[in-house]
Amino acid sequence: MPSLSGIHPGLFSSADKSPNAKFRANPSGNGRYRFGLDYTLLRVCLIGGLIGGGLCSPPTAHTPRLVIGIVIDQMRADYLRRFSYKRTGGFRRLMEEGLVYWNCHYTYFPTYTGPGHSSIYTGTTPAYHGIVANTWYERSLGRLYYCVADTTVRSVGTSYPVGQRSPRTLWASTITDELRYASQFRSKVIGIALKDRAAILPAGRAGNLALWFDSRAGAWITSSYYTDTLPSWVEQFNAQRYPDSLLRLPWRLQHTRACSDESPHEGSIGGTTSFPHQPTSYEELVMTPAGNWLTFRLAQIAIEAEKLGQRQGITDFLAISLSSPDLVGHIFGTESCEIEEMYQVLDRQLGEFLNYLTWRFRREEVLVFLTADHGAAPTPEALVEKGWNAGRYPEKALLAEAQAYLRSMMFLPDTLRPIEAFLNQSFYFAQGLSPAQRHEAATLLKHWLLRRAHITHVYTAEDLAGPGGSSYAFQMLQAGFLPARSGDLIVVYAPGWIEAEGYAVGTTHGSIWTYDTHIPLIWWGGGIRGGSIYTRVPITAIASTLAFILRTPLPSAAFTPPLQEVIEQWRLPRFDEEFHGGR
Ligand SMILES: [Zn+2]
Repeated sequence: MPSLSGIHPGLFSSADKSPNAKFRANPSGNGRYRFGLDYTLLRVCLIGGLIGGGLCSPPTAHTPRLVIGIVIDQMRADYLRRFSYKRTGGFRRLMEEGLVYWNCHYTYFPTYTGPGHSSIYTGTTPAYHGIVANTWYERSLGRLYYCVADTTVRSVGTSYPVGQRSPRTLWASTITDELRYASQFRSKVIGIALKDRAAILPAGRAGNLALWFDSRAGAWITSSYYTDTLPSWVEQFNAQRYPDSLLRLPWRLQHTRACSDESPHEGSIGGTTSFPHQPTSYEELVMTPAGNWLTFRLAQIAIEAEKLGQRQGITDFLAISLSSPDLVGHIFGTESCEIEEMYQVLDRQLGEFLNYLTWRFRREEVLVFLTADHGAAPTPEALVEKGWNAGRYPEKALLAEAQAYLRSMMFLPDTLRPIEAFLNQSFYFAQGLSPAQRHEAATLLKHWLLRRAHITHVYTAEDLAGPGGSSYAFQMLQAGFLPARSGDLIVVYAPGWIEAEGYAVGTTHGSIWTYDTHIPLIWWGGGIRGGSIYTRVPITAIASTLAFILRTPLPSAAFTPPLQEVIEQWRLPRFDEEFHGGR
């Protein structure tokens, strides 16, 4: 059993005696030299005003050998500045050395995990990539459908059905698919995340492997969509039983700052709403920074075992997503001590991961981008206390009243439920209704809903399938609307309002409002010299930007222009240079 110092040991704990310890980075060794010196040199050049020639020119970056996408689940844009990150940490380093887009947004409803990851990697919105929610009502099956569920494949690495997952509902190609295609399938693409959808969707249809965490077994798993057996390095990782060691250690508040740890609007881990938290199951373990540790650790081993970025002339892609910040955000809310502590520890974990990359690769070999799949609403009660408009919308009561209203207005029998499902603020009508009845139900319900407090907009499927409108709310809903999977009527709650029953404590996300759409975007590595951009950019620009840097076809529905500053800083070779040895 490995000994783990502290609840959240650094990524490369010196106490690690595992067989994988040979992968341990030594950031103070010559690793700093290989990557870090470039930045030191660059700073000297900038200070001396010598940039632009000779020694002080940043290297011309050609196609990177390894692209690493880091998605932080539920990271709001303000988190970049809100917590005082340590100078040695990853967020601080990315902000200092990276090109930061301070005003990047999701441009559709609903802002959830499945749609978010799909939009980053396809460069388009749910209306075109198909992932309209984490779970939608699938009319063809007459039941709810989880976005990556697939009963035609089997679990690999677990006896539980949580491995029956695949990307088959994803309709548009991803940048990772296009990289596979452009390399004649020599490039490797691996997705890693505790959440299945956050590992699977970024790896696209053509990904080599996606790994996610079975929180009943406490092990990393996959599905037969990718492979019939777990790679040996994953088996070895699981055999170390890190989760068992981590479970024995409480999560303590180590990075103290003035924060109020007790609130009646928080959930709990291990039965307690304040520090220290003692997780009692793997499911609770991944609600602590231990979840990030498990993810980064596996990512590092994947790079070594699969030799990602280490094959001449081939670009590989590692798509990482960190799920634990989302779990903590939902339980404790955006103002909690827990969310602050989560990000302070993540800052250190990310810093250690970047140190590893600088040890393993030369600067021009790696391109990292960091972003999030959505933000999160402030905890409603925290706003109400200050006199803001916010609250938790009682959806169960709304649904019951809507059923009764439609039945009475349309003279339907008491036994008939005109609304078959209500989720993602979307009403799905009973499939037994005729087209005329559906039209009538939609019109009636729309006007009935619009009379209610804290509902600002309602659009019907007919509205959304039509030519379009100019309002922000309409455009956001239309960009996320796919007739076959989306609801018959979609409701927009007022800013600050979240659903009550699903989230009785803590907070959630999913809306069109800026706290959910505004997320960080940072580019780092290669020729990126850094800087700050305040122009508003859409999340869908990431995939097209990558396509030009990687010289792949654009993903099939990536309509958004690339980010010009990234391409300019990356310093793609001129056309004539390309023919004198590119890659
Ligand atoms: Zn998410």
